[in-house]
Amino acid sequence: MANKINCIAVMTSGGDAPGMNAAVRAVVRSALDKKVEVYAIYQGYKGIVKGGEMIRKMNWDSVGGILHKGGTEIGTARCPEFRQREGRLIGAKHLVKRGIDNLVVIGGDGSLTGANLFREEWPSLLKELEKNGEITKEEAKRHPILRIVGLVGSIDNDLSGTDMTIGADTALRRISDALDSISSTAASHQRTFVVEVMGRNCGYLALMSAIGSGADYILIPEMPPEAGKWEEDMCESVAASRKTGKNKSLIIVAEGARDQSGNAITSEYVKNILTERIGEDARVTILGHVQRGGAPSAFDRYMSTVLGHAAIEELINDSANKESIIIGMRKNKVAAIPMMDAVKKTHHIYECIEKGDYEQAIDLRGGSFRDALVTFNTLRQTYPHPPESRSFEPLNIMVMNASGPSPGMNIAVRTAVRVGLDKGHKIFGVRNSFEGLIQGSVHEMTWGEVEEWTSQGGSVLGTNRKTPDYKDFYNIAKTLEKYNINALLIIGGYTGYEGAYNLYQKREEFPAFDIPTVCLPASINNNLPGTDFSVGADSALNNIVDAVDKIKESAVASNRAFVVEVMGRYCGYLALMSGLATGAERVYLHEEGVTLKDLQNDVDNLVNGFREGKRLGLVIRNEYANKIYTTPFISALYEEDGGDVFDVRQSILGHLQQGGNPSPFDRAIGTRLSTKAMEFLCKKAGKQKNESVTIGLQGGHVLYRNIEDLKKVMDLKIKRPKEQWWMELREIAQVFAKNGPKK
Ligand code: ADP
Repeated sequence: MANKINCIAVMTSGGDAPGMNAAVRAVVRSALDKKVEVYAIYQGYKGIVKGGEMIRKMNWDSVGGILHKGGTEIGTARCPEFRQREGRLIGAKHLVKRGIDNLVVIGGDGSLTGANLFREEWPSLLKELEKNGEITKEEAKRHPILRIVGLVGSIDNDLSGTDMTIGADTALRRISDALDSISSTAASHQRTFVVEVMGRNCGYLALMSAIGSGADYILIPEMPPEAGKWEEDMCESVAASRKTGKNKSLIIVAEGARDQSGNAITSEYVKNILTERIGEDARVTILGHVQRGGAPSAFDRYMSTVLGHAAIEELINDSANKESIIIGMRKNKVAAIPMMDAVKKTHHIYECIEKGDYEQAIDLRGGSFRDALVTFNTLRQTYPHPPESRSFEPLNIMVMNASGPSPGMNIAVRTAVRVGLDKGHKIFGVRNSFEGLIQGSVHEMTWGEVEEWTSQGGSVLGTNRKTPDYKDFYNIAKTLEKYNINALLIIGGYTGYEGAYNLYQKREEFPAFDIPTVCLPASINNNLPGTDFSVGADSALNNIVDAVDKIKESAVASNRAFVVEVMGRYCGYLALMSGLATGAERVYLHEEGVTLKDLQNDVDNLVNGFREGKRLGLVIRNEYANKIYTTPFISALYEEDGGDVFDVRQSILGHLQQGGNPSPFDRAIGTRLSTKAMEFLCKKAGKQKNESVTIGLQGGHVLYRNIEDLKKVMDLKIKRPKEQWWMELREIAQVFAKNGPKK
């Protein structure tokens, strides 16, 4: 049932996290959009206790220009007074006097626990205030309950109940950039770097960054090593890799790492062990607050925007009437979770670690955490497990890239090679996609060959957009037969899918094609079937967001509108998501079409916006949104109709979107999907009925679909899935695209 709420407040508390500003902006603007009065409380609970100027009424423009900023513009603080009832009593008075009885708290588990306590005590606090004559009876009666909605702001990703916390993706990005830089200097000097990352109670940042950087060893709170034993294990691992000629090692230590006896494991200690026991030239880098700072990633911006918007929806829908709730992300969907359940589950993990029940602690972190740990332990080995230990004939598995290059392709190939070799099979790499398959450009891949492939953008194997057709099949079959290939993994975009489909259709004519095949989605466009995300799309999105930040900065002082064109072919994913993440006024998608009437409305809106004080306009156009209304056309139209009110610049971002090192998310999904794809191929190869499938991540799960579905689920003319989950977000984008209610 819809609840008539009059007034809400939003605050950030505890440790700051990149993305908090996006959340505050979304809460404020979504509230105003629903005609609800909204306040910001400055400096967390300190602001509640102090009152006065610390609780400020917000309008549409008060949260303008903050989306791209790190930290929190409304400030955060620790507040010991709020831990005492007297502090909360004064706080309650400050809220009641402004008519606030809905509170959105963005913070970690401490802040959320405090908020829940405040809610529980609220009736008794108001009674006491009334008794002391500090508020009137009517005031007390008007606000019988305090509704609390929490958003989890924490770079550690340490709260149960939400798959991602605000700030974690950005922190991972900072770590990933640092590790990429450290790797090159480490390799130049044949050094080992011991890198300490944040995570007092949670090994998420350490584990994900270790996978993404090809690290050799990790020490995390959930998996404390046996005291006195792990040192030997670590030294052996580093010494062995040095013997293979590997020129660097990386050891990642979470700041909360301990051994099973509870002794803290410091990075300095790790370094000393390496130096003293094996004479390694080891250096320590403690990344510290760098991880917390800087501009939020694309994901942190759009997730926080979506969550902030949902917080207001939940308050209006009355979900927080009976208990405090958290709005989080679960399985790629917004979810409302009872707040104290989530906090209790989080503390339960710490108790498990304390009790020595590490398996349970890892399970409580979720299935993908355990999978990641297992995969890391496979990939980090110096050699694969020796083949002598196998009692079966090794399979010959072929791996190739297809379509345009996409960041994360290489780490996916690396994972396939190592997982396959570790299972005792042979891996054959194809150069230059189907072209190489036709020409027989194939080589057997080795463990060491892919060592450095984690951070490299583009495609080391080579890739292109050639789709094989009838005249090519004979040569492809010849190559597959020559190497006696039992299974095929194609990591790429639509060309790869179409090629796999064509081979599958001809499997009776060419028995060599009758092998299990997996198509792994790798395309910056995110236009592939059977998956919510393709490898590379997140990197492209971050490239766009970084570029738009710079473009916007170039126009601070002038009345200027930018028309920015992004890639995606016929798929509007990059356009819509970058629009949400950069605060674009308008996004043009092929999915929605563009009409002259739209353009006329949009230009009118921009003119009005600039007349009311807007200084900058941003419009994002998908490259194929409309054949006639091109980027130069729209820019010219805006320029003409904008008259003296604003000027217009166009920016076609082009290939910078495809380049650069893969983002941590792309490295993570590339690794996860590739591991699962190899497990599938190893299980199916040699069996009677062979399957050709696409693999993908849907609702947080790894799922397979028969390649035959391709023609059913795709719009073949424009090569785009018929259903796209992110289209739901258009509605939210429209709320933020407005100029705001009239003042
Ligand atoms: P985080 O929210 O990042 O976990 P803290 O644990 O430092 O950070 O909490 C931030 C603030 O939240 C504290 O300074 C205090 O004002 C408030 N707070 C935390 N725990 C409680 C509690 N149990 N009762 C009341 N207030 C609390």
